[in-house]
Amino acid sequence: MQDNYGREISVLRISVTDLCNYRCKYCMGEDGIPKRTHRDVLSFEEITRIASVAAGLGIRKIRLTGGEPLVRRGILDLCRMLKSIPEIKELSMTTNGSFLTDFAAGLKDAGVDRLNISLDTLDPEKFHSMTRTGSLEDVLHGIETAEQVGFTGTKLNAVLIGGFNDTEIPAFAELTKSRDLSVRFIELMPLGCSANWDSQCFLSSDAVLKALPDLEFVDTDGVSVRYRLPGYLGTIGLIPPMSRKFCSRCNRIRLTADGKLKPCLHSAAEIPLTGLSDQELENALKAAILSKPKEHLLNQTHQSGTLRNMYEIGG
Ligand code: SAM
Ligand code: SF4
Repeated sequence: MQDNYGREISVLRISVTDLCNYRCKYCMGEDGIPKRTHRDVLSFEEITRIASVAAGLGIRKIRLTGGEPLVRRGILDLCRMLKSIPEIKELSMTTNGSFLTDFAAGLKDAGVDRLNISLDTLDPEKFHSMTRTGSLEDVLHGIETAEQVGFTGTKLNAVLIGGFNDTEIPAFAELTKSRDLSVRFIELMPLGCSANWDSQCFLSSDAVLKALPDLEFVDTDGVSVRYRLPGYLGTIGLIPPMSRKFCSRCNRIRLTADGKLKPCLHSAAEIPLTGLSDQELENALKAAILSKPKEHLLNQTHQSGTLRNMYEIGG
């Protein structure tokens, strides 16, 4: 279904939990978050029913996210349930990669088509410092396991942070030399924990073009602009929500773990979807799509309109 600005809304991002085993400094506080009760979080049946009604309105791709989706107990069952919705052409997941060594084969078997793995640094100490709990080794091993069990088109997402990982751009690019990986640099957005970070942390994705002058333009893939180094197998993507906002190409809506539909990441507007009949659900989803704002004002106000943290929305 189209929204009021002619955008075909075909992607539903589903956050399955706010919980996470990491505490990335730009996303979550040191003490984590209060654990929600089971009643607060949508059941797998409720998520699947919402996804089915959304599929009837034109949703074709579902991405599972969080918090960390792999900490939700029984997540493989949910993957199977969503994959069995006939209209859904692609099921993917955004994960911090820490549990992939154990989960990659199960995810493949449960019908997950693609993975986005977050990885902000290739330095073990910096990795531990940024995630406060994580081990780089686990994630690198998880990425290899995903490759071994047959995942292709895997995307590694690095949030570009001035003074933290901008000197690592060439090292990230080397990962694409002989592997079928897309490394994507995402501009840091000022929301939640990073809302008041120093301005030097917020780098334009142009920093990547400067650091890698040999990059050749490949194409535009949704919200990312893709490049490749000559002779390299994989690609480098830039996702610039701040410096070159891509709202006119935004084709997604978001479901939070507690059952609210967010038409826009950076808006406070939320439509509650719990306790509705199928018809009420369809009406609510239609209204949500039609209320999707034209664009965010992040780069003018340097402030997101959302009242949630990123771990509650899923990115
Ligand atoms: N835990 C999973 C992970 O890290 O991939 C999924 C949820 S996480 C909230 C989704 C993505 O949002 C991650 O790639 C993370 O780096 C990104 N993210 C979190 N806060 C951000 C911010 N302020 N600006 C840009 N990206 C952010
Ligand atoms: Fe967890 Fe992902 Fe947030 Fe890091 S970015 S704290 S891994 S939800």
